[in-house]
Amino acid sequence: MATILEKLADLKEATPMMQQYIDVKKGYQDYILMYRLGDFYEMFFDDAVIASKALELTLTGRDCGNDCRAAMCGVPFHKVDVYIGKLVEKGYKVAICEQTENPAEAKGLVRREVIRVITPGTVTDSTMLPDQTSNYLAAICFGEGMPAVAFADVSTGQVYTTIPSNEKEAERLLLSSLGNYAPREVLINIAESGCRDICDFLTMRCGTLISANRGNLFDAAVVRELTSQCLPAEQTKKLPHASLLAVGALLGYLKETQMLMPTFLRELHIYTDKQYMELDLSTFRNLELIETLRDREKRGTLLWVMDHTCTAMGGRELRVWLRQPLREVAPIRMRQKAVSELVASYLCRENLREMLSHILDIERLTAKAVYGTANARDLRALAESLKPIPAIRQQLAEVESPALQQIWLELDPLTDLCTLLDQALVDNPPLTIREGGMIREGYHQYVDQYRDMLSSGGNWMKSIEANEIERTGIRTLKVGYNKVFGYYIEVTKSQIHLVPDHYVRKQTLTGCERYITEELKEMEATVTSASDKLCALEYELFSALKDRVAEASDRLQKTASKLAMLDVLSTFADISSKNNYVCPEVDDSDVISIRDGRHPVVEKFTSNSYFVPNDTSLDTKGHRMMLITGPNMAGKSTYMRQVALIVIMAQMGCFVPASEARIGVVDRIFTRVGASDDLASGTSTFMLEMNEVANILRSATKKSLVIYDEVGRGTSTYDGMSIARAVVEYTASGKLGARAMFATHYHELTALEGICDGVINYHIAAKKRNDDIIFLRKIVRGATDDSYGIEVAKLAGVPNEVVKRAREVLREIERETPSVMPSAPHPVSPAEPDMLLQLRQSEAEEIADMIRHADLNTITPIEAMNLLFSLKKKLSTE
Ligand code: ADP
Ligand code: MG
Repeated sequence: MATILEKLADLKEATPMMQQYIDVKKGYQDYILMYRLGDFYEMFFDDAVIASKALELTLTGRDCGNDCRAAMCGVPFHKVDVYIGKLVEKGYKVAICEQTENPAEAKGLVRREVIRVITPGTVTDSTMLPDQTSNYLAAICFGEGMPAVAFADVSTGQVYTTIPSNEKEAERLLLSSLGNYAPREVLINIAESGCRDICDFLTMRCGTLISANRGNLFDAAVVRELTSQCLPAEQTKKLPHASLLAVGALLGYLKETQMLMPTFLRELHIYTDKQYMELDLSTFRNLELIETLRDREKRGTLLWVMDHTCTAMGGRELRVWLRQPLREVAPIRMRQKAVSELVASYLCRENLREMLSHILDIERLTAKAVYGTANARDLRALAESLKPIPAIRQQLAEVESPALQQIWLELDPLTDLCTLLDQALVDNPPLTIREGGMIREGYHQYVDQYRDMLSSGGNWMKSIEANEIERTGIRTLKVGYNKVFGYYIEVTKSQIHLVPDHYVRKQTLTGCERYITEELKEMEATVTSASDKLCALEYELFSALKDRVAEASDRLQKTASKLAMLDVLSTFADISSKNNYVCPEVDDSDVISIRDGRHPVVEKFTSNSYFVPNDTSLDTKGHRMMLITGPNMAGKSTYMRQVALIVIMAQMGCFVPASEARIGVVDRIFTRVGASDDLASGTSTFMLEMNEVANILRSATKKSLVIYDEVGRGTSTYDGMSIARAVVEYTASGKLGARAMFATHYHELTALEGICDGVINYHIAAKKRNDDIIFLRKIVRGATDDSYGIEVAKLAGVPNEVVKRAREVLREIERETPSVMPSAPHPVSPAEPDMLLQLRQSEAEEIADMIRHADLNTITPIEAMNLLFSLKKKLSTE
């Protein structure tokens, strides 16, 4: 923004308006300043250039004195919110400079001040926020010790901070929490150059707006003052110094942007890294928990399967639970008990969910009242959302699980507030708050009186009309009203000669003339003043209601959080029962044992009968590492992800897609999955792969679950195989000893079983039939005999000529080079009988494929005959 200031400095003799603009802009240099001029908000200089691009506005110019012309563009005042929304969405901060005195009364230039600022991390306007996702503002504080981070969701009033247990973990924890929360805006206490990695990570991965080293937000004295005013001392006492500064910076920034004391942020959640399962960012992304890797969409993710929440609050809570699966057995069991109870009672669950579905976003409606942006419609929505709570409590009165009992106990129905709002506000209030029509009849004596006066004004019109008709003898005379001309007496042209002298002509229409009289003028004045007074009174009453809501914000927030929890628990019960999930046994053992496990997402895409369930058995002893081979497309990646997802679901407290499961709690899940293209960050794929492997080998513990998918693929065969082998050995060895799965196409690695403790060979069965391949999708003990690469290539539609040539080459190579490693000790086991069904299906597919690949434009009659012949033969062998 320096350029703006330079330009401004050149303006020695700016026009008075420009001078005012310059003065205001100085205080808001990192904002796009929207400056009110008549019916428009105008932007100047660089702001105009940026905004014209971002909003597709025409760029014009304005003389600002001294021969200087400023770039300028503007938006009409009544549409400003739409444009603010777009700018904020694109990561800009916006300041609104308004006329703060009546232009009619102003002497000289109208006074203008910034009355509102909107930034990506502090938006509270629900129209600018997606319902289901929380919008986070973060502050990072680097100091002598460990870096600290705090997050705030301004629209709901929650603050979070994580205290790492040791220095070694701090940096990693910082990155993983930043990745998980994906804040829209971050405040940092040092210059960007001092933490380039983190800044790059944030801007690239999350599109975050970074304010580094800005003002005195992190100043210890300022922070102490603010936190002592806004947060309970017993909470802030527990915070390490850096965390306190981070929390304080959040408060300071909110005070600046919301222009009020941030006392609304009363709830501070302090986490330790022992409470939750840790999912580092790449794992979080690789497992496609909330967005798919390729399209960044919800469809096709675990969230997509799980998110059947009824309320926006529940939707956000579910995302929080998904980001932070629990790590302690007791709270997991507590959730499980609630889910089990709701699974068992269909009626109770359905009733609760029906009632929840009528509840709107209490958290954000409350926030709007606190920030003063609520209108009467918001308060009405709040009242409606409180109405179902007594019935919900009643439904919960007889529950047995402690978690549900707790909800019952703490669910404050806020009957007082609900009744007040309900009695005070009409059923369908208008959007505007200055034009009346909000307050219900019978709520306030004066409102009723004014309204009476106004509506009897209507009667009055009738009586004046009757009098005038009698006095003048004009039978067609009418008294009417319109917005522009006010009250009038209308006489048709044919009767004009009867009009008395004291009528004053006001307006001429084609068929008639309109007049005004003294009496009508008086009436107009009374009515207008009554209506002004009514609007003012209604506004006052409305503001008082809004304040009452703001005062109750604590209670409202608590109730909202209980409803969110109830929503998620009932959703778990709902999906568990609809999708045939079972309650896993979660304990502190080192076992992961799953019978008939399914991939919760993939099973939704294959029809249920076709998804082949598989077993898993891992522990930290003899079954530490499953070494999984099998052709491409066999289902290796699916299988490993399925195990990770089942563990996550279990530790969230949900049931899991299996017929039986026992999960010894996992502290972290690590994945090295596929070649996720990370071109944007400029790291080569292989480098990235090795980065992730390094992280796993350094950080995994005995309690972790590690998934390696095709490690070593990104480099030359021998290199890759050597790295893969070393990784397997190290991971399985006593040094790490984590529960792990390793999928590889280097079937030479299968030789490690028996040599390397804890390594067990598995493969996902496939069958060769003639030159083709049939996938059985079943995980089986032992190594695979072949990689079937050529068969898969054929399946993918690689031209026959190439496939044939590949076979020739392979045969030559196999003749020339003897295998580098001893061959696998476990031969492929034969297909089990229950696989025959799928076999049929694949055969049908095979035949369909032969037909599909026949090129009818080039085929000769004899070839066609041969094709028919072989098709027929295939069918008769079945
Ligand atoms: P790999 O990693 O062995 O190359 P994938 O795990 O990517 O194979 O699986 C390929 C496809 O096979 C998946 O997209 C899925 O549609 C299907 N698939 C995998 N596992 C199963 C299963 N157990 N039952 C049915 N279809 C499956
Ligand atoms: Mg794979």
